[in-house]
Amino acid sequence: MATIGFIGLGNMGGPMAANLAKAGHNVQAFDLSADALAKAVEAGCQSMPSAVDAVKGAGVVITMLPAGKHVKSLLIEADTALFDCLAEGALVIDCSTIDAQTAREVAAVAAAKGIHFIDAPVSGGVGGAQAGTLTFIVGGDAQQYAAAKPVLEAMGKNIFHAGDHGAGQVAKACNNMMLAILMAGTCEALNMGIKNGLDPAVLSDIMKQSSGNNWALQVYNPVPGVMENVPASRDYQGGFQVDLMFKDLGLAMDISQQSACATPMGSAARALFNLHKSQGNGHLDFSSLIRLY
Ligand code: NAD
Repeated sequence: MATIGFIGLGNMGGPMAANLAKAGHNVQAFDLSADALAKAVEAGCQSMPSAVDAVKGAGVVITMLPAGKHVKSLLIEADTALFDCLAEGALVIDCSTIDAQTAREVAAVAAAKGIHFIDAPVSGGVGGAQAGTLTFIVGGDAQQYAAAKPVLEAMGKNIFHAGDHGAGQVAKACNNMMLAILMAGTCEALNMGIKNGLDPAVLSDIMKQSSGNNWALQVYNPVPGVMENVPASRDYQGGFQVDLMFKDLGLAMDISQQSACATPMGSAARALFNLHKSQGNGHLDFSSLIRLY
């Protein structure tokens, strides 16, 4: 079992670190939030006073942070950048959803220092993180993928090798653009049904067995009370924040622009989430988009 430094114990990182501890790894955890750190300790992780302390003696480091600027700052820009604290040959797995360009840049800095850095963004939501059934989408070389796989298997069910550095982030951006479109469409259809007198639970059952079936309907229904254990049924707390979905749609639009690729549906979904965010809903789960309707 490995000593793993884990930085970023939020909605996703907290349960992921817990699953590593459950699998018998020695997890040295750090988060800027004392609450997040306390929860990780309850789940079997060791609380460390700083990120630098968390990576001491660790052969593997996992980061689960909000965006590219946090990852870059922590690993290569901070006064005590973590890449300057790691032994040669250490493996750094960034599970955050960030832009592919930053992932490639950080990987190049790592390589120059003899450190292995891979992008390994996840899909599956907080439920998947808690259940240890996440999908990991890895960008890196074949050897790095092989080294990361056994660690990732303690937190996930499907571990994909998307391609070289940055490829994991490109695949993740495609997936989340699709998810935003599906959630917006699901909210739109359910709202139309409700306004026309249908019971949302009955309409959801009908669509799940029909051609409108999709992930949002199956496991993430946006209407309160239709499904248990989803953010909609706890006032849209926890889950995947509107702010983060808006960030991901920005990443998708950047890729679309850089590759001159038409993404009109992604662009419409981004405008909807932007409007919802601008009305003070950034901290709510993204399924709260139904309130916009
Ligand atoms: P979150 O905001 O709940 O957690 C982020 C954590 O990082 C916070 O606890 C924060 O205190 C900590 N943090 C920030 N900067 C730090 C630093 N310098 N040092 C230590 N800790 C620091 O976010 P989340 O929902 O857990 O998402 C994390 C990443 O995973 C994001 O990139 C997000 O896009 C992605 N993601 C989220 C979901 C989801 O359903 N929530 C699903 C897939 C991917």
